[in-house]
Amino acid sequence: MRIVMLGAPGSGKGTQGEKLALHHGIPKTSTGDALRAAVKAGTPLGLKAKVAMDAGQLVADELVIGIARERLAAPDAAKGFILDGFPRNAAQAKTLDALLAELGQPGVSKVIHLLVDDEEIVHRLVARGALEGRSDDNEATVRSRIAVYQSETRPLLDYYQARGLLVTIPGVGDIDAIFSVMLAATEPTVPEAAEA
Ligand code: ADP
Repeated sequence: MRIVMLGAPGSGKGTQGEKLALHHGIPKTSTGDALRAAVKAGTPLGLKAKVAMDAGQLVADELVIGIARERLAAPDAAKGFILDGFPRNAAQAKTLDALLAELGQPGVSKVIHLLVDDEEIVHRLVARGALEGRSDDNEATVRSRIAVYQSETRPLLDYYQARGLLVTIPGVGDIDAIFSVMLAATEPTVPEAAEA
């Protein structure tokens, strides 16, 4: 099972992706978490990423592609993975396809799109910023992250829709209820089991 979580910042990709990863016993990779860890550790990657992150802009493709490549090539990702925050633009989506082919892995199996409206997102992220102190969760940066999502990431919905991989799920309401819908939408259908 190779799943991509798509959705605006604060739509719940991380929370729901984590639940799905636990359920299936496969790793979840968040490029945002990896970048924040690099910023915290003060690595060269972190130093390069910080400016873009604080401005609510995308970090350069070559940096996040490096993170994704390393993570997907790890042995525990061979049987499946959940991607949270990657791909985030067309170039990254094409690179993901190429990367899986290069690793001899099947392509993306499903893309889960969590749909949440903009005002709810601003509300959630500003609340998270106050609670967790994430430096990019202030209103101005949140607004630019939403704008970047609309212009760069949203077109990926069409990219995956055209491949028959897209599932859109309302991302508002009870976390466990959203998860149940997501699970039903991603559970592989097993005709043999029905026959037995
Ligand atoms: P959110 O989805 O809430 O914006 P993330 O943790 O996924 O949070 O991302 C935080 C920031 O990290 C983004 O605003 C961006 O600067 C950077 N980032 C994460 N993933 C990518 C990516 N695939 N490409 C470019 N930048 C990324």
